[in-house]
Amino acid sequence: MLTREPLSAEAVRRFGAHTSVAGGLANGAREAIALGANAFQIFTRSPRMWAAPPLDAADVAELGRLRREGDLRPLVIHGSYLLNLAAGDPANRARSILGFRDEVERAAAIDADYLVFHPGSAKDFETPEEAIDSLSDALAEALEGVECGSLTILFENTAGGGASLGRRFEELAAIREAAAAKVRAPLGFCLDTCHLFAAGYDIGESCILEETLAAADALLGLGAVRVIHCNDSKGKLGSRIDRHARLGEGLLGWDAMERIVQRPELADKVFILETPHDDDGTHTQGVAALRRMMDGARERE
Ligand SMILES: [Zn+2]
Ligand SMILES: [Zn+2]
Repeated sequence: MLTREPLSAEAVRRFGAHTSVAGGLANGAREAIALGANAFQIFTRSPRMWAAPPLDAADVAELGRLRREGDLRPLVIHGSYLLNLAAGDPANRARSILGFRDEVERAAAIDADYLVFHPGSAKDFETPEEAIDSLSDALAEALEGVECGSLTILFENTAGGGASLGRRFEELAAIREAAAAKVRAPLGFCLDTCHLFAAGYDIGESCILEETLAAADALLGLGAVRVIHCNDSKGKLGSRIDRHARLGEGLLGWDAMERIVQRPELADKVFILETPHDDDGTHTQGVAALRRMMDGARERE
């Protein structure tokens, strides 16, 4: 289902952070350039509000110009937190379908590469299987007649709090399988390191990291994993608590995060920080730390 070939292992590593679009989408690209990043992630609409103003043509053009000038690729969009395509409640389901359609149309309009979203909550259903079936129907409805351009839709793994779907690879694989039977758009995955740890994958242990990557390859196909959300974790192993920490400041710690960043199977993935900001309100130190990990420099701050 994927239309794009993975980057070759020799290709330059791609990394960046979730940047702010306050004052316009182009500001997200400006911030990425200022950070020394070559990729970035943004919201195209407020992630906690249903209503969204239309895209501004001049802003979109400037975003494109800055991406070309700064060789910023890929552009990753993170979907709204309000959406629950697995909702059983008719009103919430309908709002989520419209909201997701808007996310896809916006992402395609700004020539984004990936749209990452959380699969949703199964709380309205007796079993996850029923929720996944409903989710795939809702996704098909949301995408009906929409031109996706070069966009690939990525399901993100979750920490598994409440009834959230996507805690285990098996469930993510089932979601993609159900969706792929109903939609034509390319579908893949985003893996968040904090969510993996909180979900019970003890990726701080190097042998378990290896096992986890082997399981991801067997169940998801590592080629379909395009984006890594590179976050340390404030929540304990298996706690299902989704709280991100700066690299090296969480319960995974510097050495474990560095091992993850340096795994050869992940060299062609885009690494995006979604960590709390540095004390000065930027991601400058965070991105610098990520680069040091990629370079294998073991020094700390
Ligand atoms: Zn994430
Ligand atoms: Zn998270």
